[in-house]
Amino acid sequence: MKISKHKLTNESAAHEPVKKNSGRFARGLPDTIVIHYTAGGSLASAVNTFKDPDVQASAHVVVDKDGSITQMIPFDHIAWHAGRSAFQDRTSLNRFSIGIEIVNAGRLEKSGSGWSSWFGRNYSEEEVIQAVHRNEDSPSYWERFTVEQIEAVFNLCKALKKRYDIVHILGHEEISPGRKSDPGPAFPLDKLRDNILYAQRKDEDELMDKTPGKGIVKASALNIRSGPSVNTRTIAEPLSRNTELKILDEQNGWYQVKVEISGWVSGDFVEKIS
Ligand SMILES: [Zn+2]
Repeated sequence: MKISKHKLTNESAAHEPVKKNSGRFARGLPDTIVIHYTAGGSLASAVNTFKDPDVQASAHVVVDKDGSITQMIPFDHIAWHAGRSAFQDRTSLNRFSIGIEIVNAGRLEKSGSGWSSWFGRNYSEEEVIQAVHRNEDSPSYWERFTVEQIEAVFNLCKALKKRYDIVHILGHEEISPGRKSDPGPAFPLDKLRDNILYAQRKDEDELMDKTPGKGIVKASALNIRSGPSVNTRTIAEPLSRNTELKILDEQNGWYQVKVEISGWVSGDFVEKIS
């Protein structure tokens, strides 16, 4: 994937420029990518929505089911994709981020022998997965993303990271929890982050592993948060007393830690080696 003058220049990339933007990013930005689904059925419906002057929304690119990419806003301009949003000490993430929209219906409802979207299209079993959303407790149904879409998003993020020094890749659901559910559990968001942001850092981590800080939880329940502040959200069940922690970083009296998950497994499926 090639980017020149803040536009995709590969032959397969289409361009449908819209004027709905807030001008150029501030210096040093964008440094974030926000992943969305369109909650729609086709590239055309997404592009038409983003072109509609009465709709206060736009995105840098839309990724179709076949993996082809349509760019609507140059990457150095602020698009309107995130809305009310927050991450760490930032709000209104449009000012910091590139918005990638993926053509996908999102959440589906069971209907008869199949599934249907909010706009009335029907889906067969192979187009659907059942999964628990990261912001929810019980499973629901979601339209699968195509292999081509996932590959295109990975490649695009790789190219964007190289060009813009991207340090965060976030789901809309993570910056507007409760209000938004995209891209949802059908999209491999954690894998994308690991792959694009942390692949090169593996060596550093391994180096650090040799001289790690270690700690032990001294409270009965200790919240583990997305950032070094009480204003950030909790990201897992609280840690219990005496949990062992690997300390990766320190900031303003907060530790970034890594914990090994612990639980019970059936002995039938474990071979004891010592
Ligand atoms: Zn969204």
